Amino acid sequence: MRRISRRAAHYIRDELLKRERFIVVALDSRQKIQSVNRSTPDWKLPGLIRGSILPDSLSSLVDTASGTAEPMVFSYVELNGFFVDIHVLGDADSADLVIHDVTQAHEAEQTLQQRAHEISLLSEQRAALNAELADLNQELFQRRRQAEQASAAKSRFIASMSHEFRSPISSIMGYADLLKAELPGSENPRALQRASWHLLTLVENLLEQAREGDENVKLNPGRFSLDRLVDDIEVLFRTQSEAKGLDFEVKSAPGGIDIECDELRLRQILINLVSNAIRYTQKGRVSVQFRLRDNKLQVRVRDTGRGIAPGDLEDIFKPFTRVGQGNAPGTGLGLTITRQLVQRMGGQLSVQSEPGSGSEFRFVIPCSMVKNDHVSMPPLSGSVLWVDDDPDILALYQVVLENWGLTVSVANSITQAKELIARQDFPLIVTDVHLTDGNGLELFRSLRTEKPDISGIIISGSGVTDMETEAAGNGIRAFLQKPIDAELLYNEIAAVFEGGSPDHVV
Ligand code: ADP
Repeated sequence: MRRISRRAAHYIRDELLKRERFIVVALDSRQKIQSVNRSTPDWKLPGLIRGSILPDSLSSLVDTASGTAEPMVFSYVELNGFFVDIHVLGDADSADLVIHDVTQAHEAEQTLQQRAHEISLLSEQRAALNAELADLNQELFQRRRQAEQASAAKSRFIASMSHEFRSPISSIMGYADLLKAELPGSENPRALQRASWHLLTLVENLLEQAREGDENVKLNPGRFSLDRLVDDIEVLFRTQSEAKGLDFEVKSAPGGIDIECDELRLRQILINLVSNAIRYTQKGRVSVQFRLRDNKLQVRVRDTGRGIAPGDLEDIFKPFTRVGQGNAPGTGLGLTITRQLVQRMGGQLSVQSEPGSGSEFRFVIPCSMVKNDHVSMPPLSGSVLWVDDDPDILALYQVVLENWGLTVSVANSITQAKELIARQDFPLIVTDVHLTDGNGLELFRSLRTEKPDISGIIISGSGVTDMETEAAGNGIRAFLQKPIDAELLYNEIAAVFEGGSPDHVV
């Protein structure tokens, strides 16, 4: 083995050792200091003086090491503000101490330990934070689920309220229709219809407000005659405006057109705007103008009433906000809902007003237009099964359909309907969605394989039409809303019995 070279030995002595600080102390057997050698003259430790006795702090180390053959090292001993490694090389007669200054190394190690400690603290904190975050996420998830469940429960509640309200109102309207035919010339059935429409609009306004923010709310577009809607608005408000001594005019152009949009919503919008115009006008006139252009319906409702101050023009659209002095009774909800509905139908509502002179509300909604060529209702023949759990509705439509020449059977549940279907063939079944023993769609689903030729019409009182996709495969040709539009119903039924193609198939 080659020995260390002189060059390396010199290098260690001159370059490496030069940077180190150490003191070598030689002792005799009584621990009297024989000599003190320093690597650097400026590094001194007190008490290390030739001829004196070794200070107590070092002498105890020498005692500990006595009797060991090998050198003993005491690391990181704190001595007069320095950290030193003390190497004791001793035998029975004498001892040498090499005191090595390791203050810097000790500090570096301390700093490292401190950092390691800090890091471990930080990682503990991070673990705690992560655990807290996981808890928060879990809570968030729970709350979101609760909110979703609450919102689904709210949607179900509104749908069922809507159904509960619309069914009896629809029944009142239908009977009023029958009375109109039985008592021609009497104003009473019309008064019944007017009151029903106002009641329905009020209820729908409230439900609409409750639905706010529910993204599942859908429109229910259908085809209907604009002339009939215009007539209805005229009839609905004529008595009210005449009672106040107002001129009332409803104009529409062109005539003889069917349009396609959510009729119930459009009526709700019109009733809100026209009833406001009459309510806030004491003298002069109220006019409603309908125009159809480029598959858009434009409506203007003008009055010569008290008008609205410029500063209030935005506020009138805020929920439950009423402006002006000496207000007639109202809820402050009509315009909020009206604007909401117009926007949902893809349109815009605007207002211009001059205080003291009057106001003009305008809206435009997209709607497709079709020439209306089915004004007459020739008699039909065929048998229909009508399923509804409301006996008044059953009695009403039995009469209506029989007047059209049809043979009508009625059932008040899915079970009763199935019993009738087992005994007799019905080319057409009309059913309400919500029945006591299930939903109307289930009836069609269960008949699909046995009686694939049966056509179906579903009547919905809640405006919920999210079953449409499934309905398509189950023979269902239309969803109609309560209150049922008689002409729409006639057209759908006629298409089944005349074998003609329907106006719109779901
Ligand atoms: P309500 O009529 O029940 O108070 P609306 O939301 O329909 O609620 O209307 C809000 C407010 O806007 C009304 O209180 C009324 O002051 C004002 N307003 C609405 N329409 C008219 C109008 N045609 N002429 C004057 N003021 C109107």
